[in-house]
Amino acid sequence: MAAPSAPHATAPLEPARLPSVDRLLQSAELQPLLADYGRIATTDAVRQVLEDLRQQLRAGTALVPESVATGALAAQIGRQLAQLFAPRLRSVYNLTGTVLHTNLGRALLPQAAVEAVVEALTTPANLEYDLATGGRGDRDDLVEALICRLTGAEAATVVNNNAAAVLLTLSTLASGREVVVSRGELVEIGGAFRIPDIMGRAGCKLVEVGTTNRTHARDYEGAITADTALLMKVHTSNYAIQGFTKSVPDAEVTTIAHANDLQMVVDLGSGTLVDLRQWGLPHEVTVRETIDAGADVVTFSGDKLLGGPQAGIIVGKKELIAKIKKHPMKRALRVGKLTLAALEPTLRLYLHPEALAQNLTTLRLFTRPQADMRSQAEQLAPLLQHALGASWTVDTAELHSQIGSGALPVDNLPSWGLQIYPASGKQAGRQLQQLEARLRALPRPIIGRLHDDALWLDLRCLEADALDGFIAQFFLLRTDGAAQAQP
Ligand SMILES: *Cc1c(COP(=O)(O)O)cnc(C)c1O
Repeated sequence: MAAPSAPHATAPLEPARLPSVDRLLQSAELQPLLADYGRIATTDAVRQVLEDLRQQLRAGTALVPESVATGALAAQIGRQLAQLFAPRLRSVYNLTGTVLHTNLGRALLPQAAVEAVVEALTTPANLEYDLATGGRGDRDDLVEALICRLTGAEAATVVNNNAAAVLLTLSTLASGREVVVSRGELVEIGGAFRIPDIMGRAGCKLVEVGTTNRTHARDYEGAITADTALLMKVHTSNYAIQGFTKSVPDAEVTTIAHANDLQMVVDLGSGTLVDLRQWGLPHEVTVRETIDAGADVVTFSGDKLLGGPQAGIIVGKKELIAKIKKHPMKRALRVGKLTLAALEPTLRLYLHPEALAQNLTTLRLFTRPQADMRSQAEQLAPLLQHALGASWTVDTAELHSQIGSGALPVDNLPSWGLQIYPASGKQAGRQLQQLEARLRALPRPIIGRLHDDALWLDLRCLEADALDGFIAQFFLLRTDGAAQAQP
């Protein structure tokens, strides 16, 4: 129903001229919305749209009759409902160059984990049920043997994330007592995880030793008192201290701890289960190496280098893990069945290391051949250039990706990608920000990185199966009319 478009079209409207909720709900234009979204949500949206209009009228905003025609109102109501029903957690393309990007959800899970999660979501499972005895089981039993086999530890338990693992370990083993840590290791991991704060929450007293750049064995020895519960080492995940530095190796700190009847705890952060050098990657200390160095308890994340779901894994001496599991906070920090369903098949991939770089998604991304990314860049550059038009220059470029999430912060992985510059240097900064926003506004947002007066798209995380969907969105970027055929 078209509103008259005529001489009185701009005359302000009286609130009384707004249609009623009932009349709108009965109109032909609303019937498709009622079918798609249901009566309750649609009625809410109708009320909201009418209320907004009434407020505009009260505020003296001149409304033209066209804006309250049933067709226009239905379109407005439809937009509200579509927004309400649209998922907030959305897939994006991570072309930031950081593979384990904390803000983009860290590790992508292997197919085996995806299948196990779907099954656990839709069928009952023996989460805490012992199939051998028919009695009650322990959810940690599902993965403990596997974790021990892969790390050489005596026992293991799993909690919500590594922050929880550190908190629970310290609360159990050192509450009310002193914990000795090097000043060079008092890290803050993005957001709220700071070692000194966690210590406080766990009820421990932090005893800092050494200096920011150098800590010696005698610093640990000198700090030990009758109140000391343990010595702790924290992996300096997201930064490196370079130059005139000294830190004491895990094995040596362990020797000092054990000579004084203390325990040695290591927060490994990322903690990998395999030596990454076999794939030409930089060395990151493994959980097994840390256990072999004598650590009594080691904590690490499930969704960093390990490549699994968000989790905190605690491994170590049997009697210490048993104590940790009995702490009342364990119940509050435990993982759900979806996490365990995803973790178990991810860990099992490590039993077959020869196939790991193929099957473990994160490792496959870390080891992606440069030639692959380069030919992808060469294929994409002209397509993106065509879509963006002459006001932009799209170049292929050799880039450097990062592992991310604090793993190996100073090591870069050579990769390939695209660099996009404004063709005219005028207001380059603003133009680039607008382009970045356009890419973020796509149905599946493309997240790149602004650097050196260009927008960089690192192709490491754009695997072949995602390429068609990626290219299909380019026509939405065209400013010269999207109706033109693709070349
Ligand atoms: C990442 C990290 C943490 C926190 O781990 P989450 O799994 O994100 O909770 C703690 N300590 C270190 C050293 C880390 O690198």
